[in-house]
Amino acid sequence: MFEIAKQRLQAVFNHIDIDEEVMTRLSVPKRSIIANIPVRMDDGSLRVFPAYRVQYDDTRGPTKGGIRYHPRVNLDEVTSLSFWMTVKCAVAGLPFGGAKGGVTVNPKELSLLEIERLSRGYIRAFADVLGEKRDIPAPDVYTNATIMGWMADEYSMITRRQEPGIITGKPIHLNGSLGRDSATGQGALFTLNEYARHKGWDINQTTIAVQGFGNAGYHFASLAKKQGYRVVAVSDSKGAIFDPKGLNVNDVHQFKLDNNELASVYCDGSVCNMLEFEVMTNEALLELDVDVLALAAMENQITQLNACNIKAKTILEIANGPVTPQADEILEAAGTDVIPDVLANAGGVTVSYFEWVQNRAGYYWEESEVHEKLKKNMTRETNLVFDIAQRYQCSLRTAAYIHGVERLAGAIDQRGNRKLFTRIK
Ligand code: NAD
Repeated sequence: MFEIAKQRLQAVFNHIDIDEEVMTRLSVPKRSIIANIPVRMDDGSLRVFPAYRVQYDDTRGPTKGGIRYHPRVNLDEVTSLSFWMTVKCAVAGLPFGGAKGGVTVNPKELSLLEIERLSRGYIRAFADVLGEKRDIPAPDVYTNATIMGWMADEYSMITRRQEPGIITGKPIHLNGSLGRDSATGQGALFTLNEYARHKGWDINQTTIAVQGFGNAGYHFASLAKKQGYRVVAVSDSKGAIFDPKGLNVNDVHQFKLDNNELASVYCDGSVCNMLEFEVMTNEALLELDVDVLALAAMENQITQLNACNIKAKTILEIANGPVTPQADEILEAAGTDVIPDVLANAGGVTVSYFEWVQNRAGYYWEESEVHEKLKKNMTRETNLVFDIAQRYQCSLRTAAYIHGVERLAGAIDQRGNRKLFTRIK
């Protein structure tokens, strides 16, 4: 996966002149750490969970990146995600490098107390390399604000001081930021709005299908619907629902909370019977004839196997890495625009940055202030990426990578490169 992730850099080097040393620096992570976390289970037994933290590059600032709990987590995946974080923080213009963490675990098999012990164990394992000026974790798949709160608490017990900026995505009452919950979905919507404006779309006539109905997917779908887009389909790991007239996203979300899966929205309950949904597979949702396909689940969802079946002419990557490079080529040839993850989902890390700023200042903002600042950031960076795509006649993904890599290269160069030292000699 990491080798595939790095292929994106090649396209950048084909368009712009970047020092070879930058390429060397960006092709390997700065630091990768593996730990095994012992956890006392509720039944008294002991289990050990493999855990990772990869700090990819810190040239532009302390490293930043979420912690994922998933049975498929491994070093290769965490490294790829840390690489994407490095590019994303640069694309978003944040003073951060990139990192990522993860634990190989199926959190659905653990009790809440076991998850708490595991989360505190993660911090004990990696405390030496974390810190608000070193490396700042955040939530990712199957981790949330509560877990970030436990982690911040564990860190303060180890260091014997309050340092809320050590981690972001915390609960509001534990120094979190207003607006962090919806930030990824909201940021993706700001980017889509700019894209729609450039295309001259009528939002009310624009149909969207959303794969993944978790934190990022739900907030995106709900805000898009509120703004007037027609969200016609959503899916989770158990299935998809479709209504060509448009779904009432908040009702669907409430049903999912009550019943734990979207498929049960199509159920025997009295309210459900009033709603006319078609149930379909996740695969079928990806191939719907909609204007925008928003991918908000996991990596590698569109590959060379299904890329030629995709009918949407615009793909919005809210998840990290949902379209493979091979699929990218097929989609580009078919004239499909992919609004890339390193831009489209940067709203999450942007509001994490705002949370870190507020923690360090000890001064907290109104939600409207967070919203306005996020809008300004996302709109500015989105337009810069669109300008680059226009200038180089390249895909939006290559444009976003050019934008991020130029900033990274600037920072790496300014710290002193071969040319500088040759001149001195
Ligand atoms: P989440 O765990 O809250 O939600 C994931 C959703 O995807 C769940 O509804 C799950 O059922 C669904 N899903 C899993 N496999 C699926 C499949 N094959 N088909 C359809 N649905 C499937 O996670 P999240 O925080 O919303 O993150 C989703 C993606 O967005 C991840 O790639 C994550 O790295 C990325 N992301 C999230 C944030 C954030 O702030 N939450 C920020 C940046 C990027």
